[in-house]
Amino acid sequence: MDYKGLAQKYGTPLYIYDFNHIKERYNELKNAFSGRKSLVCYAVKANSNLSILRHLANLGAGFDCVSIGEVKRALMAGAKPYQVIFSGVGKSDDEIKTALNSNILMLNLESEAELDRVCAIAKELNKTARISIRINPDVDAKTHPYISTGLNENKFGVDVMSAKKMYLKAKNSAHIEPVGVHFHIGSQITEISSIIEAANIVAKVVSELKALEIDIKFFDVGGGVGIVYDDEQNVSLYDYAQGILAALKGLDVTIVCEPGRFIVGNAGVLLSSVLYEKFNKNRRFVVVDAAMNDLIRPSLYDAHHGVEFLGKNEQISPCDIVGPICESGDFLAKNLNLPKCQSGDLILIKSAGAYGFSMSSNYNTRPRAAEIGIEDGKDRLIRRREKFEDLIALETEFLN
Ligand SMILES: *Cc1c(COP(=O)(O)O)cnc(C)c1O
Repeated sequence: MDYKGLAQKYGTPLYIYDFNHIKERYNELKNAFSGRKSLVCYAVKANSNLSILRHLANLGAGFDCVSIGEVKRALMAGAKPYQVIFSGVGKSDDEIKTALNSNILMLNLESEAELDRVCAIAKELNKTARISIRINPDVDAKTHPYISTGLNENKFGVDVMSAKKMYLKAKNSAHIEPVGVHFHIGSQITEISSIIEAANIVAKVVSELKALEIDIKFFDVGGGVGIVYDDEQNVSLYDYAQGILAALKGLDVTIVCEPGRFIVGNAGVLLSSVLYEKFNKNRRFVVVDAAMNDLIRPSLYDAHHGVEFLGKNEQISPCDIVGPICESGDFLAKNLNLPKCQSGDLILIKSAGAYGFSMSSNYNTRPRAAEIGIEDGKDRLIRRREKFEDLIALETEFLN
């Protein structure tokens, strides 16, 4: 890859996504469930760039959305409404209305209060709401606490008993059609056994619902499949799929999964330029033009990203890679060995395709990075770099 050429053409910091890799990952997952009815719903929040969504829609992917904005993005990118799911603990009335009017596949409900709201709104619109209920199976996903969602201490979903009660209520409502069951126990999960354990718990609920003449058609196992950032084990998709299939033995359901990170995480890199090198006493800092507003994962989760230096490999010594933001938490990597850097040298921050750009901000009035896609060796801009004018556009009219 000609990173120098790309840096010259588009500037830095620059997000670069490999569209061929995204396609491979999607197909890998789709094929893991081959022979069964399945729907791979890409989790839009991992990277919501419209061109990435369109690329996945063209491959036949569905979409898992956690706001009406994401639903709109998916539909705008070419998603078929019957392949779009709307999840999340706090849907507003307006969001529910728009979702019902868009005729999406289903709303994943996360509380009894929400079921009541959806019921009332569906009645008002004279519609039938297709729903699934997110079960919190109280299983430890063994991942970072901020991205662990399947324990009763987390805010997500409802426990098994409450779910059953909700399904009965839904069944008896003229405006609700319970079609699915859902769980999602966390993100960056590398011990697949926790997902399988949850699948078994939830499959048992589906059998029990069947006895109550509630026919569940969609079994949604959420996302969470982890990727390799550092020294993690590659998750075996074969074991993942086989474990889920085994849990579903005897049940005639469509398997839905909601991968975000797995599809785009390793497909993206953040290209950044060195600004300066400095020493505070003995500690060496390499200051680059990307910062925590571009990629917050190291600051927020203490996440590790591999770094590749693209300059001369001489005089290697330990350093921290830091951005220009006025926070000590503004680092991209700590304690790694890099050669002596010159201003303008390029560094690559790897595995930055998921929860990178989509979590970026304008903190410190920093325009967000540009994004490009590479497919079959050809590069193209998929989001232009923000300008100062973009950042102040919603404020200037109020300046008096
Ligand atoms: C975030 C999220 C996902 C995607 O998680 P990944 O770890 O990126 O696969 C899937 N489903 C729901 C409900 C989510 O909130």
